[in-house]
Amino acid sequence: MRSHFRDIVPKEMDWTDDGKARFLWSDGHESVYPAAALRRMCPCADCKGTHGTPPKAFNIVTTRALAGAPRQLNIESVEPVGNYAIAFTWGDGHREGIYTWDLLRDECPCGACKVRRNVEQEGHK
Ligand SMILES: [Zn+2]
Ligand SMILES: [Zn+2]
Repeated sequence: MRSHFRDIVPKEMDWTDDGKARFLWSDGHESVYPAAALRRMCPCADCKGTHGTPPKAFNIVTTRALAGAPRQLNIESVEPVGNYAIAFTWGDGHREGIYTWDLLRDECPCGACKVRRNVEQEGHK
């Protein structure tokens, strides 16, 4: 597993007025995740598939299709998991995903992080 951000932890987590999860990290970076992005990055075995099982369709549908699935995108609650992760409970009852700080930071949707991911992908070619 990648762990670029092993020593970086969130200092604050709260919610924006329009329902996005906002994290302020110990290195000063700020990440704001729409619920759809969080659900799409769910790391549980069901969503990602295991041992060659194809991932469930949820992960290949478009953002636009996700917008029509409000229950799946409703965050009902958030709980800390140890001191390394949080878990969301979704409106459809899904709660298997453990979102580590590393995963969240790695999937940060901000422009700078998108550029970083693109550069890393280029490097792997
Ligand atoms: Zn999942
Ligand atoms: Zn970022």
